[in-house]
Amino acid sequence: MSQQPPYDLVVIGAGSGGVRAARMAAGFGARVAILESRFLGGTCVNVGCVPKKMFAYASEFGELFALAKDYGFSVASPSFDWATLRDNKTREITRLNDIYRRLLVNAGVEIIEAHGQIIAPDQVRAGERVLYARHILIATGGRPFVPDVPGRELALVSDDLFSLPALPRTVAVVGGGYIATEFASILHGLGVTVHQFYRGELFLRGFDDDIRQFVARQMQAQGVALHFNTGVRRIEAMGDSRRLHLDNGETLDVDAVFYATGRVPNTEGLFAEGVSVRQRDNGAIEVDNGYRTSVPGLYALGDVTDRVQLTPVALAEGMWLARTLFADDKPAAYLNYENIATAVFCHPNIGTIGLTEQQASERYGKLRIYRSDFRPLRYTLGDSGARTLMKLIVDDASDKVVGLHMAGDEAGEIVQGFAVAITLGATKADFDRTLGIHPTAAEEFVTMR
Ligand code: FAD
Ligand code: NDP
Repeated sequence: MSQQPPYDLVVIGAGSGGVRAARMAAGFGARVAILESRFLGGTCVNVGCVPKKMFAYASEFGELFALAKDYGFSVASPSFDWATLRDNKTREITRLNDIYRRLLVNAGVEIIEAHGQIIAPDQVRAGERVLYARHILIATGGRPFVPDVPGRELALVSDDLFSLPALPRTVAVVGGGYIATEFASILHGLGVTVHQFYRGELFLRGFDDDIRQFVARQMQAQGVALHFNTGVRRIEAMGDSRRLHLDNGETLDVDAVFYATGRVPNTEGLFAEGVSVRQRDNGAIEVDNGYRTSVPGLYALGDVTDRVQLTPVALAEGMWLARTLFADDKPAAYLNYENIATAVFCHPNIGTIGLTEQQASERYGKLRIYRSDFRPLRYTLGDSGARTLMKLIVDDASDKVVGLHMAGDEAGEIVQGFAVAITLGATKADFDRTLGIHPTAAEEFVTMR
């Protein structure tokens, strides 16, 4: 006898994508339950974007105190208390957890605080309960990956930074992506001596080369020790400190080692025996343009699909799916992943949208490149070496701006605005006829000739 499914949608994972899909679906009248085994709001709210950005703000104050002197302020030698920052952050995140709970409850979503396991294409085990569902959404996100180096159990990961009992005096950060570079800047800004190790020629692979080189120069000038083409062979405990054995034969002693070498999808234990969904080697769930897995009725989106690991992408995917499944006005097209604006909150910040120069040259051939490397007005009264780089990449044939990149103060804030223009297909002529706001750093994007 077949069981009547009581839920229209069961969502596994209350992170960025899962919460958005659940709330929207309930708003369209669907009966929805959401399962969460760790923390409401997921990675972004608890151990990702939000607390990271708070720490990034904190890390800017040292430089601002120094700058204040150039503007005539006398600042008694400032000191920093890690416990205050950490605990204030935790209090705010707890408040956000409650807000997420209220948003879900008010939308009519049933919250079940349990680990979810899919036991059949229409059934999820949640603790003692079995939930029946017409549709199941897997939005279980990911977790830090640490490669198999001897001593890996001594390494800390991004989750650990947010609850450190004390701030180390010296750290090694291993990796050259978003998290490693943001963490290197944050820790340096908080007064920690930072060594960043990256296995390749230049960190931030995937970003425009000029931006990568510029950020490397700026970070080095600030005092972050960047070690490129350097891998870690082994980590050894030396009492409370850690000794890194590097592949160039050298060693380095530090108080703590952070690994930020990518993330792996949370799919372990997600499927009971007999439920088989097509997955990649790292566990990522394969989906089509409509977030359908290989099993009808099962959907997946966000980091667990290991495509674009960004909160706004998970949110957009969640909204798209909820509308597609439950709304009367269904989306007319699949989501477009072509122009995704993104920022790296290292110091200087990176903001970027569109193609790198290399990608653009492969796609379009002849390009026009506009670069501006300047000392922002804010820093002209003292001897700070802080600079800003802005770059426009224009397809010569169509005059379309196909890449816009910036490294400098508030790059994320500035590029978000220009992202609208790029999404609308703005040409260089459109940029040229836009009047600047003077004096700003952002005006440089409309005055480059
Ligand atoms: P998640 O937010 O990870 O949510 C998944 C949820 O599922 C988690 O709460 C987990 O506990 C739960 N779960 C897992 N398995 C189960 C199970 N079997 N049963 C029940 N619950 C389960 N992105 C940005 O756009 N900007 C940033 O500045 C940014 N900074 C970041 C900084 C760091 C340090 C990290 C780690 C990530 C950052 N990201 C940032 C990426 C962003 O956090 C993720 O892309 C986003 O959170 C993905 O959302 P999601 O819904 O796919 O998964
Ligand atoms: P990334 O994929 O950005 O970077 C991983 C880094 O680790 C790369 O430099 C990679 O090197 C290196 N690496 C991978 N495997 C190894 C290994 N076995 N040994 C040594 N080095 C290795 O991952 P992150 O962990 O930094 O972040 C995960 C994702 O979270 C990001 O891709 C991003 O989408 C998201 N995120 C977004 C943020 C934002 O929007 N501001 C902030 C933080 C995270 P290589 O380049 O050579 O492959």
